[in-house]
Amino acid sequence: MPADPVDQLVYRSNLLGRDRSTTNYGGGNTSVKAPGVDPVTLNPIEVLWIKGSGSDLATLQRSELVPLNNDLVLGLERGYRGVSHEDHQARLLACCVANGAGGAPSIDTPLHALIPYAHVDHVHPDALIAFATAVEGRRLVEEVYGNEVGWLDWQRPGYGLAIKLRDLVKSRPGLRAVVLGGHGLVAWANTSKECYDLTLTLIDRAMAAIDERSAGRSSPIFGNRTVVDLAPTERRRQAALAMPLFRQFASSQQRMIGTYRDDDAILDFIGSHEAPRLVQQGTSCPDHFLRTKQRPLLLSVPPDVDPMAVSEDIAAEFDAYREDYARYYHASCDGNSSAMRSPNPVVILWPGIGMFTMARSSPEARIAGEFYLNAVNVMRGAETLSAYQGLDEGEAFGIEYWALEEAKLKRMLPEKSLSRRVALVTGAAGGIGTAIVRRFVAEGASVVIADIDADGVMALAQEFGEQAVGICLDVTDEAAVDAAFKRASLAFGGVDLLVNNAGISISKSLVDTSATEFDTLQAVINRGSFLVSQAFVRHAIVQGLGGDIIYIVSKNAIVAGPNNIAYGTAKGAQLHQMRLLAAEVAEQNIRVNAVNPDAVIEGSKIFAGAWGDERAATYGVSRDRLGEFYAQRTLLKREILPQDVAAACFVLVGGNLEKTTGMVIPVDGGVASAFLR
Ligand SMILES: [Zn+2]
Repeated sequence: MPADPVDQLVYRSNLLGRDRSTTNYGGGNTSVKAPGVDPVTLNPIEVLWIKGSGSDLATLQRSELVPLNNDLVLGLERGYRGVSHEDHQARLLACCVANGAGGAPSIDTPLHALIPYAHVDHVHPDALIAFATAVEGRRLVEEVYGNEVGWLDWQRPGYGLAIKLRDLVKSRPGLRAVVLGGHGLVAWANTSKECYDLTLTLIDRAMAAIDERSAGRSSPIFGNRTVVDLAPTERRRQAALAMPLFRQFASSQQRMIGTYRDDDAILDFIGSHEAPRLVQQGTSCPDHFLRTKQRPLLLSVPPDVDPMAVSEDIAAEFDAYREDYARYYHASCDGNSSAMRSPNPVVILWPGIGMFTMARSSPEARIAGEFYLNAVNVMRGAETLSAYQGLDEGEAFGIEYWALEEAKLKRMLPEKSLSRRVALVTGAAGGIGTAIVRRFVAEGASVVIADIDADGVMALAQEFGEQAVGICLDVTDEAAVDAAFKRASLAFGGVDLLVNNAGISISKSLVDTSATEFDTLQAVINRGSFLVSQAFVRHAIVQGLGGDIIYIVSKNAIVAGPNNIAYGTAKGAQLHQMRLLAAEVAEQNIRVNAVNPDAVIEGSKIFAGAWGDERAATYGVSRDRLGEFYAQRTLLKREILPQDVAAACFVLVGGNLEKTTGMVIPVDGGVASAFLR
């Protein structure tokens, strides 16, 4: 363990954050009080180093700690005017920061400051929140921990709660920790090691107590199952069918990204007799419902029906959810409350199938799912101990809408142009495809990387973490195309942008072109685009959010030249396919446009093969001078790069050409014979 107390804090925090049942993502905070110097007066002071708001224990770094002058934080008590002034009190924390670096001080800062011990851990362990949310939680804590652990009834985090905690610690010198009702655990010690050991020991004892009580039960904790789960492949098939529909309903105000999971713990809960009662109670820990909303939407649709056949019933369940959210908002809002946020559910539970979560990005949707899993674990524990009780609605509203949370939302970075959109790019592992994927990811899109080259797909997907998934796809295989859209639905909720980029080429004269070669080019370029566009439009109709199709065609669709019969006719057909679809699917708010590149040699698999040699021979130049040759015969005399094509794609979908469909953008350096007329 490091010698410096602040390094010790970072070390301990990372260890605590490793296990998500110890604390949820971003949840809880840890601190140390250590001697320091006031940066203004250079006087010695006690510095409280605490995890800043928004960072996560598992990955916490020293730079994410906020150092505060602890005497100033303690001095805030003089001006404290009560629970209704917590926002004012929290704003003053910024004046106690001992040094400008680090994040914003957490709302829990006073809780740490007022405890007269060097090291403090505040965490949200599922097993202890189970005690914190159980009926008779105070008695249960006493029963398990005796005099070592105290109890404070629910109060919104802030200075008032910190004063109550400090007073409790003063009045009971033997206390080592306190369970905060409805919320979590606070433990303290004189050294970092002791503090860490204490936190873990208390969690272990909570888990053991729950296990012991659970072992003695004759019936399932959530009651008997009322729904039988479908087999894993079957439920994923159902989830993929339903996801675009759920995404449509959940995106009634703003487009959402969706994810799906079907853990046993989730299935056991949502298919149980007690699920409707417990779901109605709402989640408890403030961290949980800030991510998941206070309640999920528990669907009453049977697991084995075709979701499209009951889409009106599902729509009605979403409507009822939104009405209930509006009721919740209006029951507690006052003149100072910010406007109602999206009334749509974040967590959608389909018994027998699994959990769907909706958020503005794929990581946030995943995290919301993790939080609801935490909430289910909490309910299971509390129901084992006695009975679970959710947080009072008014209190929940107070947390969801208080000014500090509002400020946190305002601090979020503005969204990028393609944020909340999902793109599927075919031929994505090639030069142009890769450039499009990189550009779209950089602009905020989630991307499905599809290519027949499995290794290329995997290598590219690894660049982007959660923002991309890779799929090995042969665009001529109808079943594989359908499977790709299902996979996209499960990974991101659906697809909004399709780029038909897959292609191959040969350069041969009419006499030398075999019928098989001719058919192959038609199959990949023309029929392949047709299949993928068809699957996309079918998908987009269910999703109801419109969409974009981009065809990466070629100058060869316009210009006639020698030795190009198979490729040129396939590209010509593909270009007309674009126009035909633009005319057909506008009704579904789907725009269809094309980019006509020419001579993109860098990174091109096409030019790396025989095509490059054949083209070079056709034009009578050496292979390595082909790029220069193409550049010189253009009006602008500049070589075309893959990122130029990607830029044109972005222009088509980035928001500035929303009223354009059926258009072709040439990216060819200016070729007069390719001018459209
Ligand atoms: Zn907390």
